[in-house]
Amino acid sequence: MKQVSDDAIKQKGREIFAHMKGEKPRLFSRRNLTGRLLDWSMKQEALKIQLFKLIDVLPALQNSREVAEHSGDYLAYAHSSRILRVALAVAIRLPPLLNFVARQAVRQMASNFIIAPDAAAAIPRLRRMRDRRLTFTADILGETVLSEKEAGQYQQRYLRLIEDLADASRSWPDVEQLDSDGRGPIPKINVSVKVSALYSQIHPAAPEDAIEHLSIRLRPILHLAKERGVFINFDMEHYRLKDLTIELFKRMLSEPGASPHLGIALQAYLRDTAHDLRALMEWAFAHHRRITVRLVKGAYWDTESILARQREWPVPVFDHKHETDANYEDLAALMLENPGTIDCAFATHNVRSMAACIARAEALGREPRSYEIQMLYGMAEPIKQSLIRMGHRVREYCPLGEILPGMSYLVRRLLENTSNEGFLRATFGESVPVETLLADPREATPAPSIAWPVPPFRNEPHTDFAQAQARARMQAALKTVHAQFGQTYPLLIGNTEVHTSDELASINPSSPSEVVGVISQAGAEEADAAIIEAKAAFSHWSTTAPDSRAAILERAADLICAERFELAALEVYETGKAWEEADADVAEAVDFCRYYAGEMRRIASHVYEVPGELNIHEYKARGIAAIIAPWNFPLAILCGMTAAALVAGNCVILKPSEQSAVIGARLARLLREAGAPSGAVQYLPGHGARVGTYLVEHPDVAVIAFTGSKEVGLKIWEAAGRTKPGQLQLKKVVCEMGGKNAIIVGADADLDEAVPAIIASAFGYQGQKCSAASRLIALGPIHDRLVERLVEAASSLQVGPPEVSANIAGPVIDDTAFERIRKFIEEAKAYARLVYSGPIPEAEGYFIGPTIFSEVSPDSPLAQQEIFGPVLAVIRASNLEEALKFANRTEFALTGGLFSRSPRDIEHVKREFDVGNLYINRGITGALVARHPFGGGRMSGGGTKAGGGDYLPNFLVPRVVTVNLIRRGFVAPSEKS
Ligand code: NAD
Repeated sequence: MKQVSDDAIKQKGREIFAHMKGEKPRLFSRRNLTGRLLDWSMKQEALKIQLFKLIDVLPALQNSREVAEHSGDYLAYAHSSRILRVALAVAIRLPPLLNFVARQAVRQMASNFIIAPDAAAAIPRLRRMRDRRLTFTADILGETVLSEKEAGQYQQRYLRLIEDLADASRSWPDVEQLDSDGRGPIPKINVSVKVSALYSQIHPAAPEDAIEHLSIRLRPILHLAKERGVFINFDMEHYRLKDLTIELFKRMLSEPGASPHLGIALQAYLRDTAHDLRALMEWAFAHHRRITVRLVKGAYWDTESILARQREWPVPVFDHKHETDANYEDLAALMLENPGTIDCAFATHNVRSMAACIARAEALGREPRSYEIQMLYGMAEPIKQSLIRMGHRVREYCPLGEILPGMSYLVRRLLENTSNEGFLRATFGESVPVETLLADPREATPAPSIAWPVPPFRNEPHTDFAQAQARARMQAALKTVHAQFGQTYPLLIGNTEVHTSDELASINPSSPSEVVGVISQAGAEEADAAIIEAKAAFSHWSTTAPDSRAAILERAADLICAERFELAALEVYETGKAWEEADADVAEAVDFCRYYAGEMRRIASHVYEVPGELNIHEYKARGIAAIIAPWNFPLAILCGMTAAALVAGNCVILKPSEQSAVIGARLARLLREAGAPSGAVQYLPGHGARVGTYLVEHPDVAVIAFTGSKEVGLKIWEAAGRTKPGQLQLKKVVCEMGGKNAIIVGADADLDEAVPAIIASAFGYQGQKCSAASRLIALGPIHDRLVERLVEAASSLQVGPPEVSANIAGPVIDDTAFERIRKFIEEAKAYARLVYSGPIPEAEGYFIGPTIFSEVSPDSPLAQQEIFGPVLAVIRASNLEEALKFANRTEFALTGGLFSRSPRDIEHVKREFDVGNLYINRGITGALVARHPFGGGRMSGGGTKAGGGDYLPNFLVPRVVTVNLIRRGFVAPSEKS
């Protein structure tokens, strides 16, 4: 690699600055409203955040009153300056004026960054840019694509844009500075395409499905572009789409007759990019292709670093800005040194970075116009002019679109211009000396790292199925599990495997003729035998040191991890879960083991001392625990209840659900392998009404941990309250039951966020989660648009056997559920409006498509009874008060949600919505151990919170031993502590 001295780079940078002639960008002029706003917000961080939030919500507000309320609420949080507060207080009293001024201001701000709402309006501006010797790439801004209808509309918009721009440009003069390095003219028109806009169902676990669908939508765009001589660049978006985008790009380039005018963006802030760039170059070389690479820094640093940390995944971006800058220079050098395969486009506003590119290019003897420099529309004009004066080809990235869909783009630009670490703010906002701006990023003193909160408990990360290796492991596990279909599973009583004549087949709900396993069914006789074993084991197990019991759970967690793909594959087949849902259930089981192990150590024993008196607070186990679990979280719930009871020193009898008993058998085996003694963990599958009832009523059973339906839960609660002859203690019942969970959507909600979250909450695992959203309460003004987008999004979901990773919606659990849900839907048609009923695949499984009813009365069965299937009831409310009234008007109180951007509404709902788990501006399913202790009140449960700090004591009896340390007036020193 040819070295370029830092001095040469700095010299080039000084030249760029000199050619700027002291000009300032419009944005940083205080005469411009946006400039004034940026200036204010750079001075006050709190004001900035609130102001940008207000800008973000403004286009969604319906009237002057809402604008006044939001303005007041947001800026009240900002501790803004006195002048601003007074101005605001006056403005809020004049809502129509405030509304008018605020909207004008946002429109003006947006016009700084968005060239025009559509091609017709953009064309004259793009044409004028050529007079300034600037060229462009056009991009279409837009809402997040939530449905196939929306993706199809995007495709049409790109096609129209290409046609319109190509037509218009015919009369445009050829600008010779656009010629490339003797390789023929560069297309006059350049369009940037966002891959995510062309298919609504991109799932990390199913890249092939995404590539297939994206190819279908892209081909006409690429063909037309080739025909009309238009260059197409693939934009790079979030990290999870990176590999997919690169693969798609290569496939499109490999198609016969592919246009030579294709490019792709790569992001220097990603640690992977050096590898990706090299791989792309090797590929291009091997396939005799030249490709354009637009090297950018990357626009989603906060999201990437926060989400990865939240998921406990490796953070894909560099921690520090200077690392990205240094990487940018290295990548640029690599690109420039390979002119045979790469055409370079350097996108940056950082003069040091571009100076490094130019200096390197010069050292390599490259023509200035053999590569190009790109910057965003509306930003850094003096730098653009300077480069043009120096003879460079400069391309502006020009977004087209309406303000509302373009809002997230606008806010990103505002944040970028005001970021503490941003080059533009330093150059034009704070007049940092040129030499500082041109400093070598390798020599930068790292800014202090962000002090991210460290959670007290680390959840087991979910599998990132965007990684090819993870997908391969899951495919292999599905094969292995499929090969084991039909095995028999005996009971485990003490150390003995017991086969009974009564057997039950556990079937694959996607293909009911397939038997996943045949399970022996326990009756009273086997239950008695298990109780005898448990009684015999109790004195040893309950007195085993809590730390040793905890260590067994931790070993179990490790064993589950080692088998996680097979366990997840088993869930896919036995309970019809999609890959990611199954994987999350396995991870949750691991979390329960580790979390309760830690909790047991934490609470095992405490000393409370006063002078002369020692008080030992400790716990003892209750006795025999019957664990009665449902099928819908087949491993996690069974494992969670079992782990808690076991680590507390109780002897547990596992009674899994009939529909997921094979998974139950695997868990019992794993716990025993981890070191749980024979009588401490036994496996007793059987019919709930028979063996379940028998265990509940048995006088020797001390604890019943139940999760399931309200009907069964109430029976158990009642039966456990009846004392039997010979019973020596009160039975403790931990009882978690159903829900009829509602999400309220406020008039100012961001539908781009709300719709996918509602879809996932209502139709994830076919609505068969206790936390699932089955009611949607929409405020009047947003109701129709919400229902419309929801129906489109639901109609785009792929329903089918979940072993195919692209199928996000699978079957319901069994024939009984299938018939019950279908009957419910049929009956509901008589009193509510069926707005969507998803098609079902032609397979023998128990498939029911996503179903949406609107205009549902809040008191109708649809809105009151737990259906436990993919059925969503939309209720209209005229205001928030009414929405809350409807939301609270059921017998259940499990989960609830709100989508809103009004600080006062959020506070109101936090106070008034009576549920065990309330989620604001996110989906309402997917509770994680320790982070979101889970469980509800009223008819949803007894208020115990699984995965929380107060769960274990339910399985224990507290005890206090008090020792008087005073003997004849003195306390012996050794007894003092
Ligand atoms: P279910 O009530 O039919 O069965 C649950 C368990 O109880 C099974 O093991 C079953 O065999 C057993 N059982 C059945 N009748 C019994 C009886 N008379 N005595 C003792 N045991 C008996 O529930 P399900 O269909 O497996 O699960 C779905 C239900 O579970 C839904 O209502 C859902 O909301 C609820 N659930 C609640 C939570 C929560 O945390 N609140 C979590 C998951 C599921």
